[in-house]
Amino acid sequence: TPPRVVVVGGGFAGASCARALRLIDRDLAVTLIEQNTNYIACPFSNAVLAGLRNIEAQSFGYGGFDGIEIVQGRVAAVDAEQHRVLLDDGSTIDYARLVLAPGIDPRFDALPGYDATAAEIMPHAWKAGPQTLLLRDQLRAMEDGGVVVISAPANPFRCPPGPYERASLIAHYLKTNKPRSKLIILDAKDGFSKQRLFEAAWRELYPGLIEWVPLSSGGRVTEVDPATRTLVTEFDSYRADVANVIPPQHAGRIAKSAGVADQTGWCPVDPVTFESRLRPGIHVIGDAAIGGAMPKSAFSANAQAKACAAALAALLREREPTPPKLINTCYSLVAPGYGISIAGVYQPRDGLLAEIEGAGGTSPLDAAAEVRELEAAYAEDWFRTITSEAFG
Ligand code: FAD
Repeated sequence: TPPRVVVVGGGFAGASCARALRLIDRDLAVTLIEQNTNYIACPFSNAVLAGLRNIEAQSFGYGGFDGIEIVQGRVAAVDAEQHRVLLDDGSTIDYARLVLAPGIDPRFDALPGYDATAAEIMPHAWKAGPQTLLLRDQLRAMEDGGVVVISAPANPFRCPPGPYERASLIAHYLKTNKPRSKLIILDAKDGFSKQRLFEAAWRELYPGLIEWVPLSSGGRVTEVDPATRTLVTEFDSYRADVANVIPPQHAGRIAKSAGVADQTGWCPVDPVTFESRLRPGIHVIGDAAIGGAMPKSAFSANAQAKACAAALAALLREREPTPPKLINTCYSLVAPGYGISIAGVYQPRDGLLAEIEGAGGTSPLDAAAEVRELEAAYAEDWFRTITSEAFG
């Protein structure tokens, strides 16, 4: 019988990896285990919040995985010694090698007052689906003149430019529909991805609407009270009409119980094979992994998935894996027809994925409107390409 690779998590990382394994070596047996029947994608979900896009456009099924065994279920435990995963329904599946791609979970122990119940009042919307619709509906129901507060976590977290794209598109919604309203970003950092581009665009498109409070001005949220929708910072407290709390995160829960997460909550891996540094035979890709300089993005997840698949195919055939070069590009929409981007190239160095100096960059600070429009179109093309690569 051919060696079996079991992939846990059918998101951008896991789905791309399962598919790449089949493309590289038709003789491998591949099983993809996913707990949900449909995948709801986060990229472009900020456009859903702002009423610019339907959530249906974010949804992908698991019907198009020819030659891959799809198992719908939640992995409850991993027996690394027996090379076996245990599912919620009590069934087990054996593997020659295991790929864990569980994404993230919010850390409900990290921010006093913020737990799963609080998230129903102060949504994080950092996993797309019901949380996205909850935040969208709160924005819709808010009166003109209301205050929206977004709290952004310290690094590392899923999608570094995400909170600021979100602020931009919510500002677009407010400017168009509720122009007396205000948006405050309480930040646990003093700087953020594409900051100069975002801030220039905010001055141009949303003057006076967005206030960013960095760490050094007391922006870090230390406690929340869902009953009064209050966010407490080191210096102040803010009462919100709509509060979007993006909490600190860690690797998806299964990573910890499988023994592949370290004390940071994330998973250290070898940058060539993505094999866990803590549990041989288990590989970790996507947001859950410590990607070195690579940001936690769908683009990175897909790139890591393909590199990991190539390494797995080599390891299972007792060949030497080749060190990869990985690319990431993150597009953000600041308004409809206004896109900006950041790109980087990465390779293994000193045990981590390091950025190749000078190989990447951001959109120019002063660009014509046509350039921003083109980048918004590229963003849509990118989404079509990556989702068809991952989900067929
Ligand atoms: P996920 O996509 O979260 O997939 C993990 C999967 O594993 C899920 O389907 C989950 O159900 C499943 N799973 C977890 N545990 C188990 C278990 N025990 N058993 C079975 N199944 C399990 N990235 C970009 O590149 N570009 C963007 O424009 C962009 N925009 C974003 C905007 C927002 C608002 C957010 C929040 C994120 C954005 N991202 C973007 C980031 C991107 O969504 C993530 O980096 C990406 O989803 C990571 O992929 P992943 O496969 O590691 O995790």
